[in-house]
Amino acid sequence: MKLANLIGWAALAITVGTVLFRAGLRMGRDKIMPRSAINPGVSGASQNEETAFYFQGVHFLLSDEPDKAIEAFTQAVRINTDTVEIYLSLGNLFRARGEVGRAIRIHQNIIARPDLSDQNRTAALFALAEDYRQGGFLDRAVEAYRRVLEVDPAHRKALTGLQALHESEGRWDLALEVLRTLKRVSGQADPRREAHLLLRAGLELWEQEKKSASSTPLLPSLDPYLAAIKVYPGCVEAYRLLGEAELERNAYAAAIKHFSMVRKTRPSHLFLLIGPLQKAFTLAKDDKGFERMMQEAVDSATSSPRLILCWGNILEEQGRLQEAVALLRSGVIAHPASTFLAHRLIRLLRRLGQWQEACEIADRCLDVLTARQPVFQCSQCGFKCQDISWKCPQCQVWDTMEPL
Ligand SMILES: [Zn+2]
Repeated sequence: MKLANLIGWAALAITVGTVLFRAGLRMGRDKIMPRSAINPGVSGASQNEETAFYFQGVHFLLSDEPDKAIEAFTQAVRINTDTVEIYLSLGNLFRARGEVGRAIRIHQNIIARPDLSDQNRTAALFALAEDYRQGGFLDRAVEAYRRVLEVDPAHRKALTGLQALHESEGRWDLALEVLRTLKRVSGQADPRREAHLLLRAGLELWEQEKKSASSTPLLPSLDPYLAAIKVYPGCVEAYRLLGEAELERNAYAAAIKHFSMVRKTRPSHLFLLIGPLQKAFTLAKDDKGFERMMQEAVDSATSSPRLILCWGNILEEQGRLQEAVALLRSGVIAHPASTFLAHRLIRLLRRLGQWQEACEIADRCLDVLTARQPVFQCSQCGFKCQDISWKCPQCQVWDTMEPL
């Protein structure tokens, strides 16, 4: 059973449990005053029938017969349409099963009721928004989320849904606005998301400015990039855009400063900015500075296989093959499981005719790889392991391991 279905069922089971519990209390009360006297729409006989359908529904739910369970609950809510909670859950369950049309009809029916409490109206509106979103009716989903937020501006799930929706539509400014409301309401920040939304919104604005501009050339505003870095100092893309914008202003030193900030804030991703850094140093006529920076970066504790590879490629392009070999050799020792470093070193050694060492490197690399390779895989769930387990540790099924 899919997770969404499972959650739907759990919600329905809890709702039915609560309703039955309340029904029990009500029946106790009804001994003093019959329910038909309180609610003339429900006779004693149909109340019994309604309860019977609930119990039937629960029975089918427990025996994993979802279609029959839905049928029983549908019958129950047909007899007594007052049970809004079950109606709501039923709609949610239809949505979880992919039957969006039925979910929409149920939730619309609930909203159309004149005697609905504010809480139930909000819940039904939210459910309808989720139906529309899943069904791909995005404008209607936005409208429904907005209606929920008119009643309850701090409705976290509606804010989350609306935020995701704006993001999927590429409405970056709106997505950012809702994200900030969500942050204020929940007290929980999502700096990485916020930073990237700032960048997207900034880039969109820049594109619009370029289109509407006359012949005078414009320069991109640095503000969105600076704002993104302030929110999330590890935002590599913000440093890249900031550096590129400085390059457009011919401010080479500033560009170098921004690109190389990644060495401090996100050293694992520095290799992504090697190209822009090289360009900035070249424009600044400071090739030595670039070389010094690269040497320091590959020698530092935060150096990564990708960074070593990038610098190795540059050395190779410049014809400094022995230096490239020395760099890759130490790289392979520091990162023995890195296949692409070993591969590049082997190719270089072959180019230099150093076959013996090339073979040794290949051999060592294969040793590391085979030692890490799984030997068995569960035919049931795909779990991989090196030693055979007669009962799969992941799916708990017996004797499903097949050798790879
Ligand atoms: Zn398994």
